Amino acid sequence: MATFKLNVIEASQIGSRKLNEPTFSPAYIGSGAGAGDIYYECGECGVRLAEDLQRDITDEVIKCPQCGALNETPAG
Ligand SMILES: [Zn+2]
Repeated sequence: MATFKLNVIEASQIGSRKLNEPTFSPAYIGSGAGAGDIYYECGECGVRLAEDLQRDITDEVIKCPQCGALNETPAG
């Protein structure tokens, strides 16, 4: 299992990336046979933003539904 605590950024740093503002957590849940073992956590409050992913979500900013922090996913 790989858990990544995401990097928190400022709104001015979002740039051209997609901003995802989920209202619940985790915002992403992998599914199906062979669901993965990648987990993302909010870099501010630690709430789980994604779980059981088969591969990284990249070049996207996830607004934490719990604390509002802007978390950047890894660069693609
Ligand atoms: Zn948070």
